[in-house]
Amino acid sequence: MLDILCNLLGAAFLLPLGMALGSFFEVVLDRLPRGESLLWPPSHCRTCGHRLTADELIPVISYLAQRGRCRACDTPIGRGVPIREALSGSALAAPWAATGCANPVAALITGIVLLVAIWIGYGVLRRRGSSTASNGN
Ligand SMILES: [Zn+2]
Repeated sequence: MLDILCNLLGAAFLLPLGMALGSFFEVVLDRLPRGESLLWPPSHCRTCGHRLTADELIPVISYLAQRGRCRACDTPIGRGVPIREALSGSALAAPWAATGCANPVAALITGIVLLVAIWIGYGVLRRRGSSTASNGN
């Protein structure tokens, strides 16, 4: 019983951490290929330049609260963004939810490997997609 509680508490901590990491990787994959800084300018809408406020930066929740649109210009935000954020959180939290308190190191390593694998896989797919879209560069 205590094990289950311990696993759930750990997972409840890792889920938002994984979602925040996913949100960061989203920025990395969006900005690095364009040669932009990861730190400046702060997160903003690509269409209207609206700078995102703290409550617009909460992974998954902000997307749902804004019904998937920019608060300033109403431009739709890709559905993939909250899905990847949720997947990232789940990837980090699921191994811990299953066995974290009995095998903390294995659970953390598995979670990190899953999280990184998701983003490497997505990065490769995205790169392929963009090189096809731009007609082989
Ligand atoms: Zn906007």
